[in-house]
Amino acid sequence: MSKTSTSSPVPDTSSATNVADLEAKLRSLEQEIVGVYEHAPFGSHTLDADGTFLAVNKRELAWIGSSSEALIGKKKFLDCLSEKSRSRFQAVYSEAFANGSIENMELVLLGKEGEERPIALSSVGVKDTAGNVIKHRAVIFDTTQNRQHELQQRIASVAFESLSGMCVTDSQGAIIRVNNAFVRVTGYGPQEVIGKTPLMLISGQHEKARYQAIQASVLAHGVWHGEVASRRRDGQLHTVWLSINKVMGEDGATTHYIGSFVDITAMKSAEAAALHCAAHDALTQLPNRRSLEELTAKAAARARLSGCGGAMMLIDLDHFKLINDTRGHDVGDKVLIETVHRLRGVLSRADSLARLGGDEFVVLLEELSGTPREAEAQARRVGEEILAVLSEDYVFDHFTCRSSGSIGLDMFSDAANYADLLKHVDLALYQSKYGGRNTLRFFFANMQNVVSDRITLEEDLRQGLVRHEFILHYQPQVNHVGGIVGAEALVRWLHPERGLICPGEFMAVAEETGLILPLGQWVLETACAQLKRWEGDARTGQLELSVNVSAYQFRQPDFVASVKQVVAASDINPARLRLELTESMVFNVDNTIEKMNALREVGVMFVLDDFGTGYSSLSSLTRLPLSQIKIDQSFVRNIGIQPTDSVIIQTIIAMADALDMDVVAEGVETEQQFAFLHRNGCNLFQGYLYSRPVPADAFDAFMNRAGRLADVSCWQS
Ligand code: C2E
Ligand code: MG
Ligand code: MG
Repeated sequence: MSKTSTSSPVPDTSSATNVADLEAKLRSLEQEIVGVYEHAPFGSHTLDADGTFLAVNKRELAWIGSSSEALIGKKKFLDCLSEKSRSRFQAVYSEAFANGSIENMELVLLGKEGEERPIALSSVGVKDTAGNVIKHRAVIFDTTQNRQHELQQRIASVAFESLSGMCVTDSQGAIIRVNNAFVRVTGYGPQEVIGKTPLMLISGQHEKARYQAIQASVLAHGVWHGEVASRRRDGQLHTVWLSINKVMGEDGATTHYIGSFVDITAMKSAEAAALHCAAHDALTQLPNRRSLEELTAKAAARARLSGCGGAMMLIDLDHFKLINDTRGHDVGDKVLIETVHRLRGVLSRADSLARLGGDEFVVLLEELSGTPREAEAQARRVGEEILAVLSEDYVFDHFTCRSSGSIGLDMFSDAANYADLLKHVDLALYQSKYGGRNTLRFFFANMQNVVSDRITLEEDLRQGLVRHEFILHYQPQVNHVGGIVGAEALVRWLHPERGLICPGEFMAVAEETGLILPLGQWVLETACAQLKRWEGDARTGQLELSVNVSAYQFRQPDFVASVKQVVAASDINPARLRLELTESMVFNVDNTIEKMNALREVGVMFVLDDFGTGYSSLSSLTRLPLSQIKIDQSFVRNIGIQPTDSVIIQTIIAMADALDMDVVAEGVETEQQFAFLHRNGCNLFQGYLYSRPVPADAFDAFMNRAGRLADVSCWQS
C-alpha cells in the first residue's frame, strides 16, 4: 500500500518520515488485525468483486476443507456455497459490494465432502484511498447450534400442542401455561387456570388425598404416571391417564412441573362394556358361566362369615329343545327371557341368578338358616316354587307353550368348592331328569355311583340291542278253571355277565334314553311272530297275547302306523293282540283316544294295566275303547290283609262288568286270593300261582302236553 501526501508544496522530510512511520504503523496494525482474524473462532475472508478469495482465515479454511494456497486468487467463494445459497448470495453480492454491507445473511457453506454447514455471513466493503470499494471483508459464524436450538424449540412447541393435554406449573405448582388439548379436555380456558393449581381439576375428596400422594411421589422421584378421575368445567367426571414430570435447573433446583394427560374415559367405558360382555350372557344379561365361579366363591365366603346356610341350584328347562325345534329360536329366546322374569320373581334380593348356557340356569341361595335341616327345607321350598312357576304356560300373542323345570340342588358346605358344587348339582339334576322331570333332587354322597351305574347301564343297553341279548318270556293267563286263554309277553335281558335281568332294572333307562323305541319295536315284532306261530297250531290257535307298551312309545306320532305295519307284516289276527297301556299314559298323552280308535279299527285290542294305581276317575274309563282291565297286583297282594283294598277290587270288578270289560287279576299267588277274586266275579288270572313268565319253548312244550294248568306245581319249578 502507498500513499502520496498532497497537503504541502514543499517536500518536508520530517513529514515524509511521519508518513513512512504512519504507513508502517498502519501495516503493523493491519497485520495485527489480520492476525486476529486469522486465529479468530469465526470464519473470515476477503473477496474481490467477483468473489475471488483475497484472504481467508484458518477457521474458514478448515470449514471449507481447503488451504489458502488452493483458494487465494484462484477459487471463487461461490463454489464453496450450496446451490441455493450460491444463487441467493450472487443475487445480493454485486449490489452489496458496491453500496454497502451484508448483514447476517444465512447461507450454507459446503465442506470438502459436500457436508453442509449453516452460517451467518456479514461483510463490509473495504475502500481504496479514492473511496472505491475494492474488496469485501466478511465474518462468518457457524449457526449449526443456533439452528438446532431453533429446531428443538419448534419441536417443543409442536409437541406441546399435541393431542395430550399439557399443563406447566412453576416450582410452587401454579399453572403458567396450558395447551389447546388441555382446554379441550378440561373445558377451562387458559385465563381461568393460569396462576391456579391443578388441584382445581380433581374430582372429589378421595382424589384430593390421592393427588397429595402423587405430589409427594413426584417430589421424591421426579416422575409419576397413573390413572386419575378428573372433573371438567361443566362438572362431568372423566378419567385421564396422567404423567407428571419434575423439571430441574442446572443447579438441581426444581423449576417447573409438567403434567400431560390423555382422556381415557371412552376407552374405560369400552373396556367396562367389554368386561360386562365377557361376564354376562347377551340374551338375558345375567352373569354367565365365567362369572359364576366368582359369584359362588363370594356367596360361600359370605355364608362362612355370617354362619348362614347357602345352596346352589341348577335348573334346566324340560324339553326346551322341542320348543326351539318346533317353534323356532325366537320363541326359544322369549321363553328363556320369560323364565328369567319368573325366576327373579321367586328369588330374594340376596340370591344370585346366572345363566350357564342354553336352558340351564344357576341360582345361588343365600341367607338361609344356619341350621342345616332348616336350610335344606328352605331351599326345597324355593325349588318347589320355581318348579311351580316354570310349569305355568308361556303365553305369547298367538300361541301358548308349555314347559317345566328340573332342578339339582346342593347345600354349601365348608369343604365344597365351586367345581364340587357344580358337579354335585349336575348329578342331582341328572337324577331329577331321570326321575321324570318337573322335579328337584338334592345331591347325596353316593349319587356319583348311582349316576355312573346308570350311565354304564345305558351303554350296556345299546350294546345289548346290537347284540340281540333280549328275549321274551310269556306268563300264562288262565280262566277260573285253570285253562290257559292267553299270555303276557314280558321282556328279559340275557346279559352276558349279569345273567337274566328283569325289566324293572332297565326299563326306566330305556325310556329315558329313547332306547325303548328299538326295544319296543323288537318286542312287538317278536310277540307278533309268536302269535303267528300259535295261530298255526290248533292247541294254541285261540291264545291271546298281551304286549306292554311304554308311554314313550305311545307318545310317538308314528305309533299307530308302526303297530299297523307290524301287524300287517306278521300277518296275524289283530284281535288276538292286546296292547297294555297304563292309566298315567292314557290320560297324559295327546290324542290318546284317536290313537286307540285308529288301532281298534284294524282289530287291535287294549288292556288297561296296573289299574287302580293311577287315581284316574272311574267314569273317565268309559271314554276309552278298552276290552280288558288288569287289577294291579298291589291290591291282589292285600286280599285278606287290607280290607279297603278288597273293597277297591270289588268296585273295579263291578265297574268293569258294567262297562262290559274283562277283568284280569295279576300277581295272583295264593289260592285264597284266587278264591276271593273268583267269588267277586273276576274271570281271568295271572300270577305265580299258575306260572312265572317262561321262555316260549317252555310255554309251547306245556301247551303241547296239557293246555291246562291243572298241575300248578309243574310251573313253579
Ligand atoms: P306288568 O306289565 O304289570 O307285568 C307284570 C309284572 O308282574 C311282571 O314283572 C311279572 O313278572 C310280575 N308278576 C307276574 N305274576 C306275579 C306274581 O304272582 N307275583 C309277583 N310278585 N309278580 C308277578 P316283570 O316281568 O318284571 O315286568 C315288570 C314290568 O316291566 C311290567 O309290569 C311292565 O310294566 C314292564 N315290562 C315288561 N316287559 C315289557 C315290555 O316288553 N315292554 C314294556 N314297555 N314294558 C314291559
Ligand atoms: Mg303288563
Ligand atoms: Mg301290571
